[in-house]
Amino acid sequence: MLNVSSDLISPDYSRTFRSSLLRWYGRHGRDLPWRGTRDPYAILISEVMLQQTQVTTVLSYYKEWLERFPDFATLACASESGVLHAWQGLGYYARARNLRSAAKAVLGRHRGRFPESIAQMRQLPGIGRYTAHAIASFAFDQPVPIVEANTARVLARLSNLQKPIDAAAGREALWNYAAVLAPKGTARTYNSALVDLGALVCLPRQPKCGICPVRDFCRATKPEILPIKKARPPLKRMTERHAFAVRQNRILLQQADGRWRGMWILPPIKAPLKGNRSIHMATFPFTNHRITLRIFAQHPPRIHSRLRRWIDVRSLDSIPIPSPHRRAIIKLLVERLPRRSLAKAG
Ligand code: SF4
Repeated sequence: MLNVSSDLISPDYSRTFRSSLLRWYGRHGRDLPWRGTRDPYAILISEVMLQQTQVTTVLSYYKEWLERFPDFATLACASESGVLHAWQGLGYYARARNLRSAAKAVLGRHRGRFPESIAQMRQLPGIGRYTAHAIASFAFDQPVPIVEANTARVLARLSNLQKPIDAAAGREALWNYAAVLAPKGTARTYNSALVDLGALVCLPRQPKCGICPVRDFCRATKPEILPIKKARPPLKRMTERHAFAVRQNRILLQQADGRWRGMWILPPIKAPLKGNRSIHMATFPFTNHRITLRIFAQHPPRIHSRLRRWIDVRSLDSIPIPSPHRRAIIKLLVERLPRRSLAKAG
């Protein structure tokens, strides 16, 4: 069910809309490295990195990742620790674990060739509707639409959509409208143009309607309040406490489970000893949480857990450590250890 006025879905509207958009894209489109390839592996990597991460951050990670893991076979054979280390700083590490699992599945189920069928792509770990459509369009030239943050905003404004785009009805309306507008031949350039319009002109808070190449096609009366989204769950505040223990240029770390599974963190503690004040405090976001990280100095304890290990501070750079813990470790080591001990601490 489309739920948009009929003039917005007429063939004439779609055709003239696309030509205005493509003319603008020809002059103003961004020159991004993943736009110059048809390799489904490279496109998959860029699309997964771009989920929840800014383009400017992704640019450096993308290049380094492809140097380190140039194809599905290399990624499938890499250790989880190596993959997490390469992803370090991008956050949401389930993405990296899923990429490695997807690479193994491509090798195991598809003999190393990424499937061209969207249904088969969606059987792979971590690949949802958007990612499958993006790869189908950018790697295989299939005439399919894409709806991600930028295009969702543009499409919701063009059609003046008054439904939350993160609820089922609004989401389906967007995908249906996107399908009507997408060209019947290749959608590769058209989809890139729509993404760039959202990233450069139809901005979240202050859309630049005055210079918009598709202004004549837009039905938004108050674009700055679109798209509508469901009320967010209230931010939850959490405190996490960890111990800082060093001994002869070695630091006690623990292999994490949960959100940072497979990475190394300062050992968690339930409660500090009475009167013990934290030596480091920082906050960081995670989904709808605001987490306060508090670190307490601890005398070197006996190790009771096989997950804990004394790590030489000079090798910290070579193991995966989540950013909030790495920042805390470096700051505390700089304050507490002689400079020469830290030569390679990261
Ligand atoms: Fe977005 Fe404004 Fe262009 Fe409409 S006219 S698509 S709201 S920038």
